[in-house]
Amino acid sequence: MIKVHLKRKIANRIFNGHPWVFKNEVEKIEGDAYPGDIADIFYNDGRFCGRGYINPQSQIIARLLTRKKEDINEQFFYNRIAKAWDYRKKIGYTENCRLIFGEADEMPALIIDKFNDYFVIQTLAYGMDVWKPAIVKALQQIFSPKGIYERNDVPVRELEGLQQQKGFLSASFDTNIVINENGLRFNVDIENGQKTGYFLDQQDNRRAIQHIVKDADVLGAFTYTGTFEIHAAYYGAKSVLGLDISENAVAQANKNAALNGLEKIVHFEAVNAFDVLKKWGKEGRQYDVVMLDPPAFTKSRESIQKAITGYKEINLRGMQLIKNGGFLVTSSCTNLVQPDMFLHTIELAAKDARKKIKQVVFNAQASDHPIIWGMENTNYLKFLIVEVSDK
Ligand code: SAH
Repeated sequence: MIKVHLKRKIANRIFNGHPWVFKNEVEKIEGDAYPGDIADIFYNDGRFCGRGYINPQSQIIARLLTRKKEDINEQFFYNRIAKAWDYRKKIGYTENCRLIFGEADEMPALIIDKFNDYFVIQTLAYGMDVWKPAIVKALQQIFSPKGIYERNDVPVRELEGLQQQKGFLSASFDTNIVINENGLRFNVDIENGQKTGYFLDQQDNRRAIQHIVKDADVLGAFTYTGTFEIHAAYYGAKSVLGLDISENAVAQANKNAALNGLEKIVHFEAVNAFDVLKKWGKEGRQYDVVMLDPPAFTKSRESIQKAITGYKEINLRGMQLIKNGGFLVTSSCTNLVQPDMFLHTIELAAKDARKKIKQVVFNAQASDHPIIWGMENTNYLKFLIVEVSDK
């Protein structure tokens, strides 16, 4: 077994249970370590820290799988997936759920989304990728699924020396599937959709708009496949317009509206939201409810300020389009912008728009994406509803 000895001065993160070990926290490695090897990690005083996989090529040189001296084998992966599934069943997320949320499920760099009988997986580090056969076998044993698909077309894999790839991990199947959510139906394109095909993390938040959209004229930007907008129509909005820069997303959103018989109420346009929100604000357009769910805007600590500028701009524009006493529904999906920072950004946007805001709802992601205290990166989604009135 490879042995990794940590330096005396390491981040508290490791003591607090976070599984990542950075290259600059390692004093020495005993043995010839190859990407994906299992290693024992020791604190500087010789105490056992945990067991995990190593990748000498990666800045995150090791990721702990366990703090116990237990065997890492097929059974280990089966047990972890079974445990995560038991947890989802306990908290009531069974039909569609994030079955494995990486570090939060003690499976660093593994994502598994369950869409009824279909599973989409991402193995984002070398040491997890080598266990793909064990993971697939466990899914087969526990769920007897209709299909398993790999969405490893993710740039972050290249930092690990892995290729980007996607394809079937089971017998092939039709990758355009339909899921049920909150009494509605949505097409999910497992092969070509964004990320794993669908954003399950907002599944509870989509219900949170139920009362405020009744009889409202609603504008939704960054709609993707139209989920929030179709919920708005279903909950009684008078009219709904959804915007996305991607023609593909808009085509899928139109399909979803028709699937639910709501195509007379909800419409979609392929445009750049930054441009049209600004333009429509100048033209004096007004809506009862504006919903914003932009992409992360940043993937690195260096560009947090750029992300904050983006969030402020889009929320300021959004607020200017809201009638006195209407509502803003706004999200941010990057863990790099922490909740207090996000709220502060909205506060600044309101100030510049000369609006008063009253908080209605402030949520994180759905509970099938557990937030582990001490692991900041598991607390990533902010979902806020505020009433917006003139000053
Ligand atoms: N609300 C969606 C998820 C949105 S993901 C859901 O719940 O499923 C973010 C979306 O923003 C993506 O679909 C992306 O195509 C879109 N997007 C990115 N930049 C954009 C821009 N400048 N204008 C409009 N849409 C944009």
